[in-house]
Amino acid sequence: PEVAARIAAGEVVERPVSVVRELLDNAIDAGATRIQLAFDEGGIARIEVSDDGRGIPPGDVELAFERHATSKIASVDDLHRVHTLGFRGEALPSIAAAADVEILTRARGEPVGVFLALAEGRPVRRMARPAPEGTTITVRDLFARVPARRKFLGSPAAEARAITTLAAHYALAYPGIAFHVLNGGRRVLSTPGDDDIRHAFAAVYGADLARQVLDVAAGEGPVTVAGLAGPPSLHRGNRGGISIFVNGRWVQSRALLFAVTEAYQSQLPVGRFPVAALHLRLPDDEVDVNVHPAKAEVRFRDERLVARAIRLAVRAALEAAAP
Ligand code: ADP
Ligand code: MG
Repeated sequence: PEVAARIAAGEVVERPVSVVRELLDNAIDAGATRIQLAFDEGGIARIEVSDDGRGIPPGDVELAFERHATSKIASVDDLHRVHTLGFRGEALPSIAAAADVEILTRARGEPVGVFLALAEGRPVRRMARPAPEGTTITVRDLFARVPARRKFLGSPAAEARAITTLAAHYALAYPGIAFHVLNGGRRVLSTPGDDDIRHAFAAVYGADLARQVLDVAAGEGPVTVAGLAGPPSLHRGNRGGISIFVNGRWVQSRALLFAVTEAYQSQLPVGRFPVAALHLRLPDDEVDVNVHPAKAEVRFRDERLVARAIRLAVRAALEAAAP
C-alpha cells in the first residue's frame, strides 16, 4: 500500500492487542451476542475473531476495507453522539495494510456468505461460501512486511498477556456477550454472556473472588456508577484489576483509576491495588470519545466530577459492607 496508508496504519495498529481491540469493537458494534477470539504466538502469527452479529452485505465487503468507509456515521453532526465503538472507518484498512487478512461474512437474510482474501490491503480472492450468520476475520503474520515495527513488539508471551488482559476487560464491560478466548488453541477465558456482571467477574477472576466482591450502585449529578468492587482484603500488586467503562467503552484514565484507589483510603496494604469493575453512565455532552484513534482515551467536560462520583460510589459500597 501507499505510504500514507502505512503511516495511518501505524496509528491504529501498534501491536497485536490493538488489532484485537478493533476487531472486538466491530463485533460488538455488529450486535454480537457471542464472540470467539483465537490467537497464536501472541497474535503475531494469527488473530481470529468470530461473531454472530449482523454480518456485512455482499455488496459492502470490499468497501469495509476502504479508508473512511464507515457504515456507522453519516454526518459530522453524528460525531458528537457516537454510540458505536468505531466510527472512523480506519481499522480494517489499517489492519489489511499491516497483515494478510481474510474475512468470511454472512449478513442476516443472505442465503450464503462471502469469503474475501486481501494481500497488501487489496482484495485478491473472492467467492461465495457457506457460513453461519455473522463475521469471522483472520489476521495473519502481522507486520511481516513492516519489519521496523515487528522489531518493537514484545515477546509472544508478553503480547499474549496484553491480549488476554484486554479480553478480560471486554468480558467485564459486556456481561451480556459470551466471550470465548483461545490462546494457541487453549481456552483461557469463557464467559456465559447472561448479562450478570458477577458471572463475568467469576469467569475472569474465579468464583472465590466473585463471592467476596461488593455491589456498587450510586449516582452523583449526571454520573451513575454501577458494578463491583472488592473488599480491601482482595487486592493485587498492580492496577490491572481495575476496569472502568464509560458509556459501555473501556477507558484507561489515570485520574479515574486513582479515584478508585482513593476510595479505599488507608484500608489497602501499601503498594496494593483494589479489584473493581465499574460502569459509568453519563450524558453525551459530558464526555468526548473522539480523542485518539486507539480510543482508550476519553476526555470529560468535568473530570473531577467523574472522579468524585467514583470515589463516593465505591466508598458507599465499602461502608455498606463494613461490620
Ligand atoms: P468503523 O468501525 O470505524 O466503522 P472499521 O474499519 O472498523 O470502521 O470497519 C469498517 C466497516 O466494516 C464498519 O463500519 C462495518 O460496516 C463493517 N464491519 C467491520 N467489522 C464488522 C463485523 N464484525 N460485523 C459487521 N460489520 C462489520
Ligand atoms: Mg471499527
